[in-house]
Amino acid sequence: MTAPAPTRYFPAPRTARFCSQCGSPIRRGIPDYDNRERDICDRCGAIHYQNPRIVVGTLPRWQGKILLCRRAIEPRYDTWTLPAGFMELNENTVQGAERETQEESGAQVEIGSLYTLVDLPHIGQVHMFYLADALGPELAPGHESLDARYFDPAEIPWDELSFHSVSSTLRHYIEDSKRGVFPVRQYALKTPL
Ligand SMILES: [Zn+2]
Repeated sequence: MTAPAPTRYFPAPRTARFCSQCGSPIRRGIPDYDNRERDICDRCGAIHYQNPRIVVGTLPRWQGKILLCRRAIEPRYDTWTLPAGFMELNENTVQGAERETQEESGAQVEIGSLYTLVDLPHIGQVHMFYLADALGPELAPGHESLDARYFDPAEIPWDELSFHSVSSTLRHYIEDSKRGVFPVRQYALKTPL
């Protein structure tokens, strides 16, 4: 069985066919005073803007090891990832990163500085990873994780990682660990996988 195309898991942002305000069919078009195509409802006049979504996560550390979670959900079921997920309304990025870490691994962490800020314009996402320090070794993977454990940097399963934003964050981290200096890394990736 061949793996499904990545686009199946990362659909283009536009999925709605009907206006969420009034239920009428919507059309694509460029509104007045705009220069991009939007979803427009001619009946009620609503313009349904869509913008990138933010994924927040952490690179949690405990005694020199790095926490990874084995995904129990698609996309990328059964691959190892740093704990991360979509930011929710009414939380800030640090709170979101801490919440996702708790939900996926059970780890209690103290969030440190922002480490990677990764643009993924082709799927309309921005991924942000914070350095974090675990307050203890205890883990309790939630329903989104098959497993969670700390890896020595030399044991990271590079061939079984979930996303480019995760593998690139880990690569930067291991490289920066040699000097013990972790500047913010901002870059763009062309594909999520
Ligand atoms: Zn409408």
